[in-house]
Amino acid sequence: MKGEAERRRSDAHEHVPSETRSRIMRAVPRERTTPELEVARFLRAKGLQFRTNVRSLPGSPDLANKTKRFAIYVHGCFWHRHAACKKTTTPKDNAEFWRKKFEQNIARDRRNEEALRELGFEVAVVWECEVHDKPRLDTALRKIIRRAGVRRQPTR
Ligand code: ZN
Repeated sequence: MKGEAERRRSDAHEHVPSETRSRIMRAVPRERTTPELEVARFLRAKGLQFRTNVRSLPGSPDLANKTKRFAIYVHGCFWHRHAACKKTTTPKDNAEFWRKKFEQNIARDRRNEEALRELGFEVAVVWECEVHDKPRLDTALRKIIRRAGVRRQPTR
């Protein structure tokens, strides 16, 4: 299945012969790829199956498999307050509003994760700033990959 970003990118190169086009596409940075798509690609390469944006589970996990009982949230660092991350800035104006807002987000995330664990799910959080970092993804998703019963592929 092609992602939206890839589709848009290929539309832009419609007039170019396909061989040249694929060479260009490989060279184009994946700026339009969302963090969720990046994690989905990573999991698919590991052979895991899942659904995206699963609304029937607490907090609509970005990726989840109800049969294998795993769920993954891909969190934006700013909104979900990734600790010690440079994207986790705090606006100076309306400081009180933001403080409350962030507190609510953190509390909601915690509630959702707990609710899923109570349902027997293995839960992982992936931060948007680490989706391009394969070793960190491996670490963050190790338990899920193990639970899904998929053998790790040899690293290239
Ligand atoms: Zn971050």
